[in-house]
Amino acid sequence: MTYRNRAFRRAASFMAGVALGAWLGAPTSSDGYGLMFVSAAYAQETDASPTMVRDRERDTYYPNTEDLAEDEMRVVACGTGMPTTRAAQAAACFLVELGNGDKFLFDIGSGSAERLSSLQIPYNYLDKIFVGHLHTDHFGALHDLFIGGALMGRNVPLRVWGPSGATPELGTAYALKGMMQMLTWDMAGRAGNVDFRGYKLDVTEFDYKLENEVIYEQNGVKIRTFPAIHAIDGAVSYALEWNDLKFVFSSDTYPNKWFVEYAKNADLAIHECFIAVPDLVSKMRFTPESALLVGTQVHTAPEAFGKVMSEIRPRLAVAYHFFNDFDTGTAVYERIRKTYDGPLSLANDFMVWNVTKDDIRIRMAVTEEATWAPPLGAPAQAPSLDDRAAFAGEAGIDIADIGFSDFTKSGYWNVDDALRPIFEEASKALGREFPYPGDE
Ligand SMILES: [Zn+2]
Ligand SMILES: [Zn+2]
Repeated sequence: MTYRNRAFRRAASFMAGVALGAWLGAPTSSDGYGLMFVSAAYAQETDASPTMVRDRERDTYYPNTEDLAEDEMRVVACGTGMPTTRAAQAAACFLVELGNGDKFLFDIGSGSAERLSSLQIPYNYLDKIFVGHLHTDHFGALHDLFIGGALMGRNVPLRVWGPSGATPELGTAYALKGMMQMLTWDMAGRAGNVDFRGYKLDVTEFDYKLENEVIYEQNGVKIRTFPAIHAIDGAVSYALEWNDLKFVFSSDTYPNKWFVEYAKNADLAIHECFIAVPDLVSKMRFTPESALLVGTQVHTAPEAFGKVMSEIRPRLAVAYHFFNDFDTGTAVYERIRKTYDGPLSLANDFMVWNVTKDDIRIRMAVTEEATWAPPLGAPAQAPSLDDRAAFAGEAGIDIADIGFSDFTKSGYWNVDDALRPIFEEASKALGREFPYPGDE
């Protein structure tokens, strides 16, 4: 079909929609919604082969199939749930992608690493994480991204920004030092076997009392932090500004004066919003007393979320941190609407917002769950035994203790006859000799 024909056919179907709309008494001229409804229902083009792509515009986002415009921001929800894990919703994680090529993660809650892998983004680009506080539903997948991301091709350090606490033990640096300690066996078992450059964590801990101060500035992007009120001292929220666009992420907080002040003029304002108190009793089996405490005093109730958004008036308000089901979501929505009548998304995993100065487009991403490694961001390096020595040194381990003892070696059961053909197969297929271990 030529473009001319196609344009003609579209115009024809458009006119048919207008005619039908008028005939049916549906709104037509000034009401684009009514016109579209009637057109879609009654004026479908029917002569297209089902094998032809007629229109690439779809209501779904297919990762890695769309360019981001130079002035555009894309935000993908990779976790919108709660500390109580569920398959349908990972815990807090939002990916911000900018038209200049930069990508940032805000929180990396339990289960979110799988969501990130579904986007199939080269891991070198997922190397900057801003953690709002140290509850596992906000950083519980960090070790998964750290280890899994490196195995899937990240060969640059993973950089993490997070707040201090009331004491050093309550700060981000302490927590992540502990995480690295937890990973001692994991990393000892990999050093010398893989490209080890991605197994480095760069932690920047900043004062949680900073009020709207810049903690990251590069490539035209500014990220600011301000205090949040959540659980105990040491929780923060973030604002990212770039190209005259502003993204704000509360992480967890009770409504507070800093958010109300520093989230003003946000294009996209993401704020926690908890399950309605009656659902905390009926679904979460809380006592009424603890439901009232947790649902209104520890977290932000939907009614309070609405009040915050009515004050800051973002171009789009995003509520997250609740199990967004057919019934609980409705309850949250109705309660927010008691105090806020502006634009609103009730977040769910894989919700996507494309933000420009003129428009905010909201869709769901369609992703592949059975994910393999994405393309490499940079060429891989062969494993080096020096990495094992360096790791042992840094971890304070005697390098002789990394490996197999005579005890473990004595457990080997000989399957050489099953394995040897694999080497022969590879040698034959690739035209060079791969000697069987021990044969060289
Ligand atoms: Zn929390
Ligand atoms: Zn939380």
